[in-house]
Amino acid sequence: MDTPAPQPPYDLLGVGIGPFNLSLAALADPVPGLRTLFCDQRPEFRWHPGMLVDGARMQVPFLADLVSLVDPTNPWSFLNYLREQDRLFPFYFAERFQLPRREYDHYCRWAAERLDSCRFGTEVTALHWVAGSGGGGLFRAELTDTATGRRTEVQARNLALGVGTRPVLPEAFTALDGHPHAFHSADYLDRRDDLAGARDITVIGSGQSGAEVFLDLLRRHAGDGVRLRWLTRTRALAPMEYSKLGLEHFTPDYTRYFHSLPEPVRDALVSAQWQLHKAASAETLAEIHDHLYERTIGAPIDTAPVEITPGTAVTEARPGPCGGLELRCRHADSGAEHLLRTDAVVLATGYRAARPAALEPLARLIDWDRDGRYRVDLDHRVATRPELTGGLYVQNAELHTHGVGTPDLGLGAHRAAVILNAVTGRTVHRLPTRTAWTGFAPPGAAPVVGRTPAAERPPTEHAPTESTPVVPRPQELTRAATAGR
Ligand SMILES: Cc1cc2nc3c(=O)[nH]c(=O)nc-3n(C[C@H](O)[C@H](O)[C@H](O)COP(=O)(O)OP(=O)(O)OC[C@H]3O[C@@H](n4cnc5c(N)ncnc54)[C@H](O)[C@@H]3O)c2cc1C
Repeated sequence: MDTPAPQPPYDLLGVGIGPFNLSLAALADPVPGLRTLFCDQRPEFRWHPGMLVDGARMQVPFLADLVSLVDPTNPWSFLNYLREQDRLFPFYFAERFQLPRREYDHYCRWAAERLDSCRFGTEVTALHWVAGSGGGGLFRAELTDTATGRRTEVQARNLALGVGTRPVLPEAFTALDGHPHAFHSADYLDRRDDLAGARDITVIGSGQSGAEVFLDLLRRHAGDGVRLRWLTRTRALAPMEYSKLGLEHFTPDYTRYFHSLPEPVRDALVSAQWQLHKAASAETLAEIHDHLYERTIGAPIDTAPVEITPGTAVTEARPGPCGGLELRCRHADSGAEHLLRTDAVVLATGYRAARPAALEPLARLIDWDRDGRYRVDLDHRVATRPELTGGLYVQNAELHTHGVGTPDLGLGAHRAAVILNAVTGRTVHRLPTRTAWTGFAPPGAAPVVGRTPAAERPPTEHAPTESTPVVPRPQELTRAATAGR
């Protein structure tokens, strides 16, 4: 390892540059004196490249960009990106709030390439805590240049883990791991050509990715006789909740309420709320129906070799004895079992937060819950043992503590601002105290009080040492926050 040139510690080191840490980088950018570094192992910013399917759109309005829901005047807003690209007029006439997914990817790349704090091709390979002699201490991060293998080190007062989630391979499919004709939807565009020659393709999973893959396959195989199947464990292809009041589950108000609930209630809620975060959009479901409708005009509807079968769980999958794949299925309502033979499987079976390997040296200093998950406070700070006094923050790994809004891009800027306020120990970004009309707690219950605003807490030893001018905090924030919304 190269001996690092002595340099002052960063105030904040971000591990991973997906949309969430990129939002943190963008909101931190205008803060004078704040030293930040964000590292990503990829050579450049990419947003779910395997699912940038033609025509796919975002499921949130464009205002869920990196900064606008906190500070629309920030130069890293989507509207400013459009201005820089001379595309404001086309966007204005398009009158679409939901961007093409490819455009969101390009917008994020535009920001990531220009933000000085973002460094790509750099994997964070290990994180350590180095206690200081007189108390306190610093994080020490080992970085590896992914092109050259060169290793360096940096120090930081605070860490923000934004390493995203990993594709899930359900246990029933473990025998297909690595099979050339079975892959996760995260790799769809990279592996789509592997489906060439398959006469029978099965898509598993009722979420947005499953619906998009199925629609893409329908369009590509219209009229060529390839049989397409869509199997989902959920009993109905119900659309994602998208009513205006329903969307208030994706507000900081709901997040605070959810956080105040006992752990068993939270765990039960996350699975019960599948329609808020796991279903497919009504628009994509309608496109599938429209496609089939058009395709079968003038003929019986079963002329298209298509099977859509909800309420069917795959209990075991394996390579077939004579080639192809075999799926043992159980129908939820009848309990009937059957064997399905298919040539290829696309697993749209979701994603899950996972502990990054780089965290292992710190693992014994983290106060895990009984299921080995982070305990995360309202500032998105992870509970640690007393000897680790630095700020360890997470983004998108707190579904169990913060609820369905955790992976939602609409809450990304707000969460990043909360972290930034906590890291600096003051109100860099003023945040609203009331964000929903819905009252989630029962009437008369003790209000769900947010954390004490950063500006009212004594600065932590890990706040930046340099004096940083911040946006003055108006009186109403103090009043509302202490009154608990
Ligand atoms: C196909 C798809 C579409 C989605 N569409 C929407 C949508 O429309 N609206 C919405 O609200 N949500 C959407 N989501 C959910 C979610 O918001 C996104 O997945 C989002 O990308 C999550 O961002 P992230 O920053 O947590 O992680 P990611 O985007 O996964 O980025 C994490 C980054 O961390 C890097 N990394 C990991 N470990 C290290 C390390 N040790 N060192 C350096 N770098 C590391 C990775 O290379 C990666 O670039 C979608 C999800 C998927 C899968």
